[in-house]
Amino acid sequence: MYPASFNYLRASSVREAISMIGDNEDAKFIAGGHSLVPLMKLRLATPSTLIDIGRLSELSYVREDGGQIAIGALTRHRDLEISPVLNAKAPIIAKVAGQVGDPSVRHKGTIGGSIAHGDGASDLPAAALALDAVFVAEGPSGRREIKSTDFHKGFLETALEPNEVLVEIRIPSNIKSWSFQKFNRRAQDWAIVGVAAVKNGSTRVALINMGSIPLRAAGTESAIQSGASLKEAASQADLGLDPPGDLNATVEFRRHLARVLVGRALEELD
Ligand SMILES: Cc1cc2nc3c(=O)[nH]c(=O)nc-3n(C[C@H](O)[C@H](O)[C@H](O)COP(=O)(O)OP(=O)(O)OC[C@H]3O[C@@H](n4cnc5c(N)ncnc54)[C@H](O)[C@@H]3O)c2cc1C
Repeated sequence: MYPASFNYLRASSVREAISMIGDNEDAKFIAGGHSLVPLMKLRLATPSTLIDIGRLSELSYVREDGGQIAIGALTRHRDLEISPVLNAKAPIIAKVAGQVGDPSVRHKGTIGGSIAHGDGASDLPAAALALDAVFVAEGPSGRREIKSTDFHKGFLETALEPNEVLVEIRIPSNIKSWSFQKFNRRAQDWAIVGVAAVKNGSTRVALINMGSIPLRAAGTESAIQSGASLKEAASQADLGLDPPGDLNATVEFRRHLARVLVGRALEELD
């Protein structure tokens, strides 16, 4: 299906993007377009105006900053995959980005778009959650920080205001103990279930496609804190969760995958 008709504006700075969205009712930002355009083609999204932020090179970077790593929201998945800073200091992000979709998706899609889109099946938001990332949003009155734990509110619903641009993702540096497990049928497919786990002081385990938003495996995390064995902790991976059933997997299969993949992830952590 073709998208409904829309106006197109291209922003040349973050400030201009914010001003443009304030002037256009029902407008949406577009970055790589690899999540928004499919929704528009299905007429599940019908923005009146697209405000293109995809060429804002000021938001494409990965750099060390005050003991953390700062990632510009417009950084493409491919640039994350090959980033020397990430490969040395937080390889989980490079690894996860390298398994998103196929090469054309990775050359167009952005980390900010993946996080702002708000789909529980996406890989990078779960990795950000496991890393306890902080997201920086910029709106008409300036910048504010949003914790990754507070960001995703529901399916395609986030803490961003409609006139805020996600500008930066901040993650800890020197991540040595991590694991990423993605179960899919073909290499370029979305995860049927995935797991991003990080041990950095405490152990944080995030799940992909086990709900409408990226989720922590709270049962596993509290079992680890209480000194349970890895096997016992993994058996709690789906505790309290309500995973979806669809053509790819039944609810019970997703629960089983979560327990198995969390077990593998915990074994990989040092
Ligand atoms: C064939 C295919 C396979 C894919 N496979 C996977 C996969 O395996 N794993 C996976 O995780 N993802 C996958 N994706 C999704 C892909 O990673 C997208 O690129 C990503 O989810 C969205 O990034 P984008 O830059 O394309 O965002 P867009 O589609 O441009 O935007 C998505 C949403 O975020 C908003 N937005 C974008 N950037 C910002 C910003 N900086 N500030 C505020 N709002 C913003 C837009 O308004 C829109 O609502 C796949 C996509 C396709 C088409």
